[in-house]
Amino acid sequence: MKPTPFIVGNWKMNGTVAEARALVEALETAVAGLSGVEIAIAPPFTALASVSAMLEGSNVQLAAQNVHWATSGAFTGEIAPAMLIELGCGIAIIGHSERRQFFGETDESVNARATAAIASGLTAIVCVGETLAEREAGETLSVVERQIVRGLAGLTAENAQRLVIAYEPVWAIGTGKVATTAQAQQVHAHIRALLVTQFGADVGASVRLQYGGSVKPDNAAELLAQPDIDGALVGGASLKAADFAAIVKAAV
Ligand code: PEP
Repeated sequence: MKPTPFIVGNWKMNGTVAEARALVEALETAVAGLSGVEIAIAPPFTALASVSAMLEGSNVQLAAQNVHWATSGAFTGEIAPAMLIELGCGIAIIGHSERRQFFGETDESVNARATAAIASGLTAIVCVGETLAEREAGETLSVVERQIVRGLAGLTAENAQRLVIAYEPVWAIGTGKVATTAQAQQVHAHIRALLVTQFGADVGASVRLQYGGSVKPDNAAELLAQPDIDGALVGGASLKAADFAAIVKAAV
């Protein structure tokens, strides 16, 4: 049986607090009462406190777009796990391709962030995915395998209860180019096999695998119907309440 689908909206660096509040208000109405699906949104850090108060008692959870591995200290610009938890945030996206591409994030820093996040009680959404050049060179599976093996090094089956993997081909993020269902399922099946090797059959099968990369209301249902696709990490379409709600409904 497939795990409960998990749809997460990554707002990236978009929106003032006022804009975030307006979007949350529209979204909460659009997804009110929906069950059989887990929903979360990741606004910018600046809006977390305000959005957290709005989400109390709703079926939408709060996520952060990054988290540091240390508990405190001289790490200008970073946010520690306990700082997120204090705000009612239970989930952190880690190793998004934009972090890897523009901010020097590596498999090793992803591993440190994920390990600390999970140890602190956060759910870690670890992002992996190949660039267009890597896909064209036939390296997709080996790149993703390296990111999974190094990014999850040292995590145990117990840790994996708070782990989600997002497969996001870099060439599909924000480009309107979506992976075909066969391309996505092939990589998800490979990730699933790696998780089974590391965590055992039961836990490996229970880790949610999200697809991300130009997910929209009109392609969500087909992607989510694939055997190893258990959710979506949604960028652009999560900034429109109606579109994000339509994707959530496609998962139910
Ligand atoms: C993302 O940023 O994680 C993402 C998948 O973006 P988009 O949906 O806009 O491609």
